[in-house]
Amino acid sequence: MKEDTSKKCQFKKTSGASCGAWAMKDSPYCFTHNPDMAVERKSAVLKGGLAQKKQLNLPRVDIQNPKDISKFLNKVVNELRTGKIDRRVANALGYLGGHLVKSMEVGIMEDRVVEIEKALKIKRPQEVEQEANELLGSKQSSPQ
Ligand SMILES: [Zn+2]
Repeated sequence: MKEDTSKKCQFKKTSGASCGAWAMKDSPYCFTHNPDMAVERKSAVLKGGLAQKKQLNLPRVDIQNPKDISKFLNKVVNELRTGKIDRRVANALGYLGGHLVKSMEVGIMEDRVVEIEKALKIKRPQEVEQEANELLGSKQSSPQ
């Protein structure tokens, strides 16, 4: 079965190929190539730009600990459910929230390891290296 190209946009690209998009009703061109749609196209672009700016105008959040992340994610969930923020924004915030949780977990674990090492008087690799360098340095400089 041959495709009916009469309803396709008649615009020819510089390569000579046709646009391929469906033509608008009562026009041989699609929305992008219809010369009568220039004003509408411009306003659609403007509208898109404004919508994006509105979404990015969210208040600043201060996240210091895992509890703050819980509060933050709770807020994101509710803002998404009430339509205050876009699904894509919620997705991005959820993704970043997950990374914040992970990095905080690493920070908390690191602090705990330091505490345990202190309690057990275990030397950190940097300390061992520093002592070794000092020892080597003093041996090299001291006359035998
Ligand atoms: Zn077209």
